[in-house]
Amino acid sequence: MKKTINQYEVLQWASLFLLKHNREENVGQLLLQHYLQVSRSTFFANMRENIADEVVDKFKQSIILHAETGIPIQHITGVETFYGRDFQVNKDVLIPRPETEELIEHIVTTAGDKGQTIVDVGTGSGIIAITLALELPNSNVYATDISPQALKVARQNAENLKANVTFLQGDFLQPLNDCSFTPDLIVSNPPYIAKADEQTLSDTVKMFDPHLALFADDNGLAAYKNIIDSIQPGEKSIIFEIGHLQGQAVTQLLKDKYPKAEVLIIKDINGHDRIVSAKI
Ligand code: GLN
Repeated sequence: MKKTINQYEVLQWASLFLLKHNREENVGQLLLQHYLQVSRSTFFANMRENIADEVVDKFKQSIILHAETGIPIQHITGVETFYGRDFQVNKDVLIPRPETEELIEHIVTTAGDKGQTIVDVGTGSGIIAITLALELPNSNVYATDISPQALKVARQNAENLKANVTFLQGDFLQPLNDCSFTPDLIVSNPPYIAKADEQTLSDTVKMFDPHLALFADDNGLAAYKNIIDSIQPGEKSIIFEIGHLQGQAVTQLLKDKYPKAEVLIIKDINGHDRIVSAKI
């Protein structure tokens, strides 16, 4: 007869297996919680409860797959939580990062909900555009992406979360400029990693996040240059997520085009430069 196993025991197994493969241990908790379909508090309250064999089997297979191949758990579960909401993700979009929640927090607290027009450039899974549309319901939110596959994911997320966002396919600001549309606020978390830094990334990132979403030419600055170059008269503010060493360079790009712009570099909770915000 097969021995029943409780949550605690199966997590212990997962932790050891993950450690042996140099993977993060907390993946076990996140995945098991996903398969049990319970909240974090219920999960911890039920540590000594036995688990159905089918759940144990599915969980173990996923842990082994993640440990051996580096596939992100979000590609196994198909979801990632961002700013308290579940977004569908797949290989066509960047998996949402916690740093981007700080970008949202910054906009929600500083921009206010005064009915402005916002565009999220390079929306990927749609997290920024959709979250802003839901947090700032008086705003008019647009989002662009060059990848039709990413837009498919973003549209599905907007529908699932009942967010009113207009999606446009095209390169950075191009689709808006094509119809001479000038938003009040441009937001973007564009690709910003230099190709030369590829070897510093974990296999979970470099083998599974779309390279279109990660890498940019010109030492990682090409997307910022493209967006800044195509800003139209009438656009008032721009807020970028940046790589932690890019604050000065992105500020300079903005200053080159708008010498009078007020530019701020804002740090994330780890003390790293993470946001560049400009009034132009
Ligand atoms: N805007 C999306 C995000 O922040 C996609 C970013 C990207 O693909 N570089 O996750």
